[in-house]
Amino acid sequence: MASFCYFPTESDLAATGRRQWELHARAAAARQSEFGDQVFVRAVVEVSNFCRENCHYCGMRRDNRTLKRFRARHDQMAELLLHHRPASVTDINIQTGEDPVAVRELVLPLIETLRRETSLGISVCLGTLPEELYDELQAAGASIFIMKFELGDAAQYARLAAPGTLAERLQHIRLLAARGWQVSSGFIAGLPGQTLPDLLHHFTMARDLPLSGCSVSPFIPGGETPLATASAAPADWTFNSVSALRLLRPDWVIPAVSAFNLAAPEGYRRGLRAGANLVTINLTPDDVRDDYVIYKRDRFIMTEERVLAAIAAEHLTPATTGLAEFYRQRQPAPVLAATATSA
Ligand code: SF4
Repeated sequence: MASFCYFPTESDLAATGRRQWELHARAAAARQSEFGDQVFVRAVVEVSNFCRENCHYCGMRRDNRTLKRFRARHDQMAELLLHHRPASVTDINIQTGEDPVAVRELVLPLIETLRRETSLGISVCLGTLPEELYDELQAAGASIFIMKFELGDAAQYARLAAPGTLAERLQHIRLLAARGWQVSSGFIAGLPGQTLPDLLHHFTMARDLPLSGCSVSPFIPGGETPLATASAAPADWTFNSVSALRLLRPDWVIPAVSAFNLAAPEGYRRGLRAGANLVTINLTPDDVRDDYVIYKRDRFIMTEERVLAAIAAEHLTPATTGLAEFYRQRQPAPVLAATATSA
């Protein structure tokens, strides 16, 4: 039973050496007690790299003219997901830049196809959209919405041109949860100028939102962004944040993100060791994948082989129940921690 009584300290987030080892071991034990040794296996398809936003930390920002922009074709993605997905995949995450055109023309029909032809759980990561489009996506068969709040401070959020405004982002997260979506959010650790108190504040924000899961992504300077010459996030902050999220909410689904491997050698495994319980196999077709550059062009692609090897190396096993099905069985939808405040 989750107790929700932990809240990280700055020294947790900065821990190294033995203290860090103990923090990660506590988090792994919390995951074990809530989820056993099972890790959810989701595949992601990145179906459009058009983006109307201009985030300073992202290579897909609209001012990056070096990218070849693409929208995948429905028949290509349907063929891939219906007939060529790895057997271990129980859920699909459909992801785009902020591209409402792709949502209407591609994502909605693709969800309808997947719902009709498969029992896969369906997540989407599409940015903020009109309310009626959220409803259409849900009616088509998606049930998990990934919407990261990115940064916990409104002024920093605006300075880095993160999508829309922070207030709007938080409002959409609450709106989605109120409309019955399972919402997973997330934030970036180690952005230039971010302090430990700033990082700590992200945990207050995450705790106070109606979430089913939360991620932490390390800041990786992207070559074609205004932050190209900035330093990457301290790896310890990233992995300690994974553990802090796990201890904050043992019941959350917390992903190991592919950027962990850019943050540190064997980073993906370190993320699992620190308490993550969701892995993602990248199924984006080779011919467009190089132009989906949230971080930088030399991406570390998590294939099925790499993902399963990381799970096995950490003595974990792929979950037999899919993520969307797990949430469905765990109804009612997530409640806020007892200490949460509403905005
Ligand atoms: S982080 Fe998202 S919204 Fe911002 S530029 Fe990248 S794809 Fe667009």
